[in-house]
Amino acid sequence: LTRVFVAIAVAAGLALSGACGGGGGSGDDSLSVGVLLPGGGASRFGQFDRPLIEKKLEELCPDCPAATVAASPESTVQRQQLEAMITKGVDVLILAAVDPQLLRSSVEAADRAGIPVVAYDRLAQGPISGYVTFDGAEVGRLQAEALLKAMGAKADGGQIVMMNGATIDPNAGWFKRGSLSVLQDKVRIGKSYDTVGWRPENAYVNMTGAIAALGAGNIDGVLAANDSLAGAVVSALNSAEVSPLPPITGQDADLAAVRRIVKGDQYMTVYKPFQPAADAAAAMAVALGRGESVESIAPGTVDNATTKDIPAVLLPSVSVTVDNIKDTLVKDGLYTIDQICTPE
Ligand code: BGC
Repeated sequence: LTRVFVAIAVAAGLALSGACGGGGGSGDDSLSVGVLLPGGGASRFGQFDRPLIEKKLEELCPDCPAATVAASPESTVQRQQLEAMITKGVDVLILAAVDPQLLRSSVEAADRAGIPVVAYDRLAQGPISGYVTFDGAEVGRLQAEALLKAMGAKADGGQIVMMNGATIDPNAGWFKRGSLSVLQDKVRIGKSYDTVGWRPENAYVNMTGAIAALGAGNIDGVLAANDSLAGAVVSALNSAEVSPLPPITGQDADLAAVRRIVKGDQYMTVYKPFQPAADAAAAMAVALGRGESVESIAPGTVDNATTKDIPAVLLPSVSVTVDNIKDTLVKDGLYTIDQICTPE
């Protein structure tokens, strides 16, 4: 029996502990999986990806008690977490990199130590062994198509603001390119901002600037790249007493965003079914840790700057408006109707 345990690390003061000890001794076939995510608590990574990855790892190793992961939105903290996991000798890593360029030398160090790395959601740089993600260009297209639909007559020549993700996150580029492929030649892009580290407070400042520069009445829609940016956009528009709000997009199906959609303050979100992603990453990690092929798990391939033909899983997303919340998010068990309808 191969046993799995997951390295536990917290942002402040790294502590690794084997949750599933295994038989001990040199003949021990236990497997330790280090999981590094870019955000804890309220982010999709903390709320959905993390418990689902833990659950799948436990399922693949029934004897293992609950496992946990290292989460930090800070790239330098994440680098320390990764290096500590290498030092402790985990067998395999699942990594959603805050800053793939910064982490590249650590990924190379993992490779030298014989530790395979599965990139999760964001494509890591360096020698990685597998990748699980959602089609980022599709996410951007879904946002842009929904925005145009919500803009009605203004979809022809109206003016929008783009609130994009962080430039250090390669996904943000895919989202933006996907959106622009639909929006170009249809609407005017009055202002377009790349946010710092996906930070809502940065989006709030940007949106306040856009309102001052363009005039609230001249903003017919906002392409916000995810739900936390959308929340900041709504706050900035509310502070400027803009009413009614223009249509605003999002991504991640955050509970606060779903509530805004029901209330009419946000038009849509993009739901990325987290479960198949988490399951594929856990399965790949366990297979790699056991020295098995991942071909049956990862039918596709991607390239990063250093590695060609990385086995990859590329998953589709779903556009969610008030009309299909029940058939998507509620049906998949993300939230109950009660949770959605209970005011914050
Ligand atoms: C993820 C998004 C998320 C964003 C901010 C991206 O890499 O794909 O789902 O909203 O990071 O955390």
